[in-house]
Amino acid sequence: MRRTALAFALSLLVALPLQAQQASHASVTRVDDASMTRAAQLRDAALKDDTGWKVVESLTTEVGPRVAGSEADARAVAWAKAKFKQLGYDKVWTEPVTFPKWERRSEHGEVLGTHAQKLVLTALGGSAGGTVEGEVMRFPDLAALQAAPDGSLAGKIAFVDYQMQPFRDGHDYRNGGGIRGGGPSVAIHKGAIGFLMRSAGTETSRLPHTGNTRYERGLTPIPAAALSTIDAAQLARLVALGPTRVKLALDCGFDGEYTSQNVIGEITGSKHPKEVVLIGGHLDSWDHGTGAIDDGAGIAITMATGALLKPLKPARTIRVVAFANEEQGLYGGRAYADKHAGDVVNHVIAAESDFGAGHIYGFDSSARDAQPEAIQQFMQVLAPLGIEWKPNEGDPESDIGAMAQRGMAWAWLGHDGTHYFDLHHNADDTLDKIDPKDLAQNVAAYAVFTYLAAQAQGGFGSEAKALEAGK
Ligand code: ZN
Ligand code: ZN
Repeated sequence: MRRTALAFALSLLVALPLQAQQASHASVTRVDDASMTRAAQLRDAALKDDTGWKVVESLTTEVGPRVAGSEADARAVAWAKAKFKQLGYDKVWTEPVTFPKWERRSEHGEVLGTHAQKLVLTALGGSAGGTVEGEVMRFPDLAALQAAPDGSLAGKIAFVDYQMQPFRDGHDYRNGGGIRGGGPSVAIHKGAIGFLMRSAGTETSRLPHTGNTRYERGLTPIPAAALSTIDAAQLARLVALGPTRVKLALDCGFDGEYTSQNVIGEITGSKHPKEVVLIGGHLDSWDHGTGAIDDGAGIAITMATGALLKPLKPARTIRVVAFANEEQGLYGGRAYADKHAGDVVNHVIAAESDFGAGHIYGFDSSARDAQPEAIQQFMQVLAPLGIEWKPNEGDPESDIGAMAQRGMAWAWLGHDGTHYFDLHHNADDTLDKIDPKDLAQNVAAYAVFTYLAAQAQGGFGSEAKALEAGK
């Protein structure tokens, strides 16, 4: 069923008593018919446009891997500034983001003794360096490691051998990512001298997946690494044969501080320049691939969106943020929130793309209950892209989370992540894995959302709120 916004508004007025009409009149957000028509035209044009592809090709080719704090970090910042300007953004600037600098220098793993052989592994981001040798104790998942008595792994290497399963919404990353983030600290509590895990990946390959870990305060860090899924299976078979000793040698660690930049481009609003619709992705990547799906795609989708909207002279300002150092602890998102905490109310709504370049299948928003009419209008233009309304399935992705906690309204455009964790943080995260057609659909979806949010009369519930304790 298709209804014009006006017809829908009138039907509401008929249904509500007079007092409620007056109370709701100011608070019901809607998009005018002309903007609805332009959004549909924009959608269809975006499907045939290759701006997004050109941006991600440029970033992954000219900058390549761009680990936060590396030499390539500065080149990525320079690239983003130049690209925003080249795409015709009205304003381009940077905001500093400071963090501890972590470096990977070399990594090596091998089985010792009768079955001596090399193991393919990679240090987890944030891991301590060092060389350890010890018997491997295998656990099927994090709960099993947690259940081991304290001190029971003294002198041993903990090995959490959990195989992540693929899902469209990627929800098993809670387990895989949870092992990577929290496993080393649990292992230290049990007395382990080293930590190994099966990569948090859904493919079968000899490409290990890196990603950040974090040690609990007060613990002495141990070397921590991820085996490729094939090497993890090999080590599991060896452990089943009998006691198996492994040597793990990692040269990596923290080396002072580094200041990178959030790079921001704006298309200035033609009617409400102070009111901002924020979209973005993160500019940094891990080092094994070229950061195409994570998160060159998000940078490309959102940079292209602003460029496509510029000729339409959107009413509100479109702000695209290329966030610094998401990978090692959401530093860019947190720095942005610290700087803009006093301006939550002018951030009308935000969306971040940080889940690859698969087909976008779902839409959700924090405004789902307060502004059902506006949501219905968004869905009317998004649905022909194969996008369904998925209430309560979305969340604010990575870097915009800190502003969302402060009360900024958010939207979620959910990518199909069935194959995301085949490539995530490993050497196969390269440009050739992006389907240009899917990427164009992603840009079309972001362009529709961003344009309608910029044109809507009324807001989506952004309201400054105090942070909950501990956040
Ligand atoms: Zn990411
Ligand atoms: Zn990542």
